[in-house]
Amino acid sequence: MTRVVVTGGAGFLGSHLCEQLLADGCEVLALDNFLTGSPTNVGHLAENDRFRLLKTDITDYVHVPGPVDLILHFASPASPIDYLQLPIETLKVGSIGTLHILGLAKEKGARFLLASTSETYGDPQVHPQPETYWGHVNPVGPRGVYDEAKRYAEALTMAYRRTHAVDTAIVRIFNTYGERMRPNDGRAIPTFIRQALRGEPITVAGDGSQTRSVCYVDDLVAGILLLLRSDLAGPVNIGNPHELSMLDLAERIRALAGSSSTIAFVPRPEDDPTIRQPDISLASRELGWAPQVALDEGLARTIAWFRSHPELVG
Ligand code: NAD
Repeated sequence: MTRVVVTGGAGFLGSHLCEQLLADGCEVLALDNFLTGSPTNVGHLAENDRFRLLKTDITDYVHVPGPVDLILHFASPASPIDYLQLPIETLKVGSIGTLHILGLAKEKGARFLLASTSETYGDPQVHPQPETYWGHVNPVGPRGVYDEAKRYAEALTMAYRRTHAVDTAIVRIFNTYGERMRPNDGRAIPTFIRQALRGEPITVAGDGSQTRSVCYVDDLVAGILLLLRSDLAGPVNIGNPHELSMLDLAERIRALAGSSSTIAFVPRPEDDPTIRQPDISLASRELGWAPQVALDEGLARTIAWFRSHPELVG
């Protein structure tokens, strides 16, 4: 049986990955310190005897007994609110945490997949962003803690590949949304949904003309697992190229939620990227991957999940 370690397994993306890996017949060990995730995200998996959740801070010493075939390294604060409140933790998990998990991959001879991010492209001057673009990141701005942690993690991953022949892969994830996002994590979609469901003004940053390309979580998980089971090193962009303005996104969510919220314009955060869109030619050519879930469908599923958890909406 394939044994998989998922760091950050109790987080938003990690929990969906654990779920799919178990459905695929794997044995899954999730390592998480619950900094920004929660055991409730994987509570529904607890009954499965192929699943284990171990409270572990991967910036401390990491030991996993027995063989490991695959490692998905997803531990890191990921939303701007989180990494701006946890700047040192973010840098530590991207550096020391990644070092420890690459060491685990080396020890076990496991394939290692790093969850990197479209934030490595910063406020991009090339549009859409192919993997060959080196990015436009402000290392000393507030968001630098996340962007540079991930850029360092990518460099470390490549060093382990070149120096220690560890079988590695890097995925650059573009904005992803879906069930189990936290309503107060500061990301646009859960914020807009919570505001729409409460009938409060939907707060759009700036004039709302800045764009994002958002991917439904099931599509992302499918792409990541294809990359995991390939022999590609990457980096490989996984995201949905469907680009839309933040104002358009807010209005769609309002309509899908059947809400009568107004739209309120608020100041844009520092270094907020103006445009962001993945070039997914590589994933399409090498992995045969393309997103399948249309935006309105993914948003409707996410809104339904928030509705079924009224305690989260407040
Ligand atoms: P999340 O905050 O829900 O999950 C991250 C998990 O990592 C949490 O459960 C947290 O408790 C855990 N964690 C943090 N520090 C840790 C440590 N030192 N030791 C052990 N566990 C630790 O965020 P997410 O959206 O699921 O993101 C998961 C990964 O995907 C992150 O690495 C993030 O950078 C990357 N990513 C996500 C997106 C997105 O749109 N969600 C986009 C790009 C990249």
